[in-house]
Amino acid sequence: MLRVTMKRPYNFSAGPAAMPQEVLTQAAGEMLDWHGSGMSVMEMSHRGKEFISIYEQAQADLRELLAVPEQFRILFMQGGGLAENAIVPLNLSRAGTVDFVVTGSWSQKSLQEAARYCTANLAASNQADGHTTLPAPRNWRLSKDASYLHLCSNETIDGVEWQELPDLKAIGYDSPLVVDCSSHVASRPMDWSRISAAFAGAQKNLGPAGLTLVIVRQDLLDRALPICPGAFNYKTVADNQSMFNTPPTYAIYVAGLVFQWLKNQGGVAAMEQRNQAKAALLYDTIDGSQLYYNKVARDCRSRMNVPFFLRDESLNEAFLSGAREHGLMQLKGHKSVGGMRASIYNAMPIEGVQALVDYMLEFQQGRA
Ligand SMILES: *Cc1c(COP(=O)(O)O)cnc(C)c1O
Repeated sequence: MLRVTMKRPYNFSAGPAAMPQEVLTQAAGEMLDWHGSGMSVMEMSHRGKEFISIYEQAQADLRELLAVPEQFRILFMQGGGLAENAIVPLNLSRAGTVDFVVTGSWSQKSLQEAARYCTANLAASNQADGHTTLPAPRNWRLSKDASYLHLCSNETIDGVEWQELPDLKAIGYDSPLVVDCSSHVASRPMDWSRISAAFAGAQKNLGPAGLTLVIVRQDLLDRALPICPGAFNYKTVADNQSMFNTPPTYAIYVAGLVFQWLKNQGGVAAMEQRNQAKAALLYDTIDGSQLYYNKVARDCRSRMNVPFFLRDESLNEAFLSGAREHGLMQLKGHKSVGGMRASIYNAMPIEGVQALVDYMLEFQQGRA
């Protein structure tokens, strides 16, 4: 039997990211024999009654957690966020014009990939200020009759987050809004009145890599381009309950355990409060320090991914090795940005952020 109380280091990885320890413990306990079936979940037919019950529970729990309205379908797909950069235009662009709001590395990648399938219009960008702000919707250069508008609601690398999705109808824009919410899904409630489709790789905030979540309004299912692969066609996937081909069964099972864990934690609204408190603790420490700084405008800062820098960059290696000695892992910033990044997803308890903050203050002593 596994020791439930085993003390593990705090893991600040941006993804694949830390999992709730309770979920890992439960999955380990059920590894050889799921609920008396005599099988591991990864050994089950995806069409058998055992796995179907796992799948249906995961669907129902996620719908409840994210308050997904009835007219949306929840698809469990594969390929990750990067595959969705092609799959979304293959399904929704009608080979027409798509508007992109580029706010960092991920939305930039989305635009570049989509341009292979449609006319990708750069409607707005925060490139000029180094991806540290969010462009105001009233200044966007929007297309007439766009097939949809794409934005990334939390830029994992740059640390910029939409605190509220834009109200496109209020600026006279009727096309659907598609959101890449990979790195903050389930960290806060989602406003479905403003969203037409959303996607997320699971490995940040939902579970293991290999599962990709897509939530799409039913009336958008039937507009895929003829070249869209069957396994990536939203209507085909929806019509077959995400089992047109073998779905990532084990990843779905573990994500389902995360959904149950989230419900036990009080749901997404309760997570949001905790995430706010965690982020405030870390940003307040950074802002109050002479050694550390963060470049993002305060009202656009991500609650999930906190990039920060040391004013003396020659201390970077010492900071990281000291962090490891304190049981604080994977704090190195993305190579395109440098510095440090603390990803503090749902699974990171406030005690982990407190341990990081304590270490940062200790490291700063006598250095700034
Ligand atoms: C991680 C990430 C992706 C890419 O996901 P993959 O699963 O590696 O394809 C896309 N968008 C955002 C916002 C991400 O954080």
